[in-house]
Amino acid sequence: MLLSIATVCLSGTLDEKLEAIAQAGFTGVEIFENDLLTFDGSPADVRRIVADLGLKIVTFQPFRDFEGMPEPQRSRTFDRAERKFDVMQELGCDLLMICSNVAPDSLGGIDRAAEDFRELGGRAAARGFRVAYEALAWGRHVNDYRDAWEIVRRADHPSVGLVLDTFHTFARKTDLKPIRAIPKDRIFLVQVADAPQLDMDYLSWSRHFRCLPGQGDFALGDFMASLQATGFDGLLSLEIFNDRFRAGSTRAVAVDGHRSLLFMLDELRQRTGQAIPEVPVLPGRVACRGVEFVEFAVDDAFQPGFETLLRGLGFRRSGVHRSKAVTRWSQGGINFVLNAEKEGFAHSFAVAHGPSVCAMALRVDDADAAMTRAGALLDQSYRGRIGPGELEIPALRGLGGSLLYFVDEKRASLWETDFAPAADDAPPAGLTRIDHVQQSMQYEEMLTWLLFYASLLDVHKSPVQDVLDPGGIVHSQVVQTADGALRLVLNASQSQRTMSARFLDGILGSGVQHIALATDDIFATVERLKAGGVDLLPIPENYYEDLEAKGLALEEIERMRGANILYDRDGSAEYWQVYTKSLADGFFFEIVERLDYQGFGAANAPIRLAAQTRFARKPQHL
Ligand code: MG
Ligand code: MG
Repeated sequence: MLLSIATVCLSGTLDEKLEAIAQAGFTGVEIFENDLLTFDGSPADVRRIVADLGLKIVTFQPFRDFEGMPEPQRSRTFDRAERKFDVMQELGCDLLMICSNVAPDSLGGIDRAAEDFRELGGRAAARGFRVAYEALAWGRHVNDYRDAWEIVRRADHPSVGLVLDTFHTFARKTDLKPIRAIPKDRIFLVQVADAPQLDMDYLSWSRHFRCLPGQGDFALGDFMASLQATGFDGLLSLEIFNDRFRAGSTRAVAVDGHRSLLFMLDELRQRTGQAIPEVPVLPGRVACRGVEFVEFAVDDAFQPGFETLLRGLGFRRSGVHRSKAVTRWSQGGINFVLNAEKEGFAHSFAVAHGPSVCAMALRVDDADAAMTRAGALLDQSYRGRIGPGELEIPALRGLGGSLLYFVDEKRASLWETDFAPAADDAPPAGLTRIDHVQQSMQYEEMLTWLLFYASLLDVHKSPVQDVLDPGGIVHSQVVQTADGALRLVLNASQSQRTMSARFLDGILGSGVQHIALATDDIFATVERLKAGGVDLLPIPENYYEDLEAKGLALEEIERMRGANILYDRDGSAEYWQVYTKSLADGFFFEIVERLDYQGFGAANAPIRLAAQTRFARKPQHL
């Protein structure tokens, strides 16, 4: 299988794109004509750059409105094709991609189109070229790969082949089964794209919302299984038109692209049990058993107040690092690590972002296997300084430059090896575990982190939810394990005025904005928090008036009102939430109690965001 990407996927100039594509480890590249037209150099220059980078140009595209034209347009179309062949000759590319005709004056008819392709195949062959035909979902006469294949079949020329494109196939919900009957040597190119399921016209959907495999809703696994049944082992290329990618980092999107293909092909291998030539075999997706700890980078100004807050929340200082200015704070199954070192990773992080979450450790079965999978998926590993006798905890670069650690049974002894126990008998507040961690990020990078988590961990993703913030819309997507041991909420907004965006400004980057901690009795926990002097986010009265509609007893509502607790119900499942006031940078804790409830209180999010916005506008001495 030759893995490739189309230049149209990336931002930047053509030479920047090519370099990023080579760096990301692709073998092939599809050159989009527009990238060539806007490039300040000749096709021969491009050929040289591509060769120097060790890449291969697999396709030149697109050639439009070719088949089924009446004369005199038909002759002109063939002349146009010859000029494309001239460019291909200079480029050193042998495959021209032709998409189905959308011209109003084009004529239908399978045989007419086949006749055109037979003639073009002859002309291409004379110059050592091939042509490949793709059915656009919005093609005038041909919009189904089965018709395109019939035309290719009837053209009956070895230099004429078929393009399969997952977007055009899924957009029209075309049956995948007939793919299995296509001879593999007649499929010249397979273009892969995912997309969210949207109800809109095919062209706009395709031009703006395509995304990488694993980021959208298409059943690409079903498509790939059908393709594999043909024995296909040729060109597999990403062709993604996406506004966010065009605004994003050229290099990051190229790496994401390669990662998405490796992930998709690994899933295919696991599904069918058949190895894929030239594609590495990865250890399985990592089963996450929970969050072992969250690490905060703190400084002298921040630490005392934060420790007071932790104590108020029922945490006790349970360990002191043997060689570093690092302490462990615990309650139930929750561990927080406060890192006040004056050098090293956490320190640099605190300098760059202010006090904030600098790392998160996931409990896994085999940390080394997790790192092997991550490495194969092109994730970036991190090695820090280790003191004598200390455990090395494997780590990856995560969101906003933070670290993602893996801790297995063997490494869970870090609490004994690296920390001396501390005597602290502060009373707990009934908090048992980390329920979820919410990370805020730039809108452009949301798909990156979605793919990062989904490809590495054994998690599933929820559909995107749009949440109303007083300053704009926040897009929210959840990745979580089936048993809820890990729940990550990814938030981003395009507006600069949402709480999510303000947090990014505050810490100069993306990161953990809130951590939700679980309790089995939220009312008792709130009593403890109040006694501990924790400031809870006040919830407006109107919210509680509205709760009566949910059929709650008045005294129940009064109890919630008195405790600033938000409530949601889904059938017989119930959910209670309460928030601490935000710290100066916008970070906060949430306390939740779940009764068979699977969601995150989305209905309450606008209430919470409005309350936080009101509070944030007040002077900070509050
Ligand atoms: Mg295509
Ligand atoms: Mg939450």
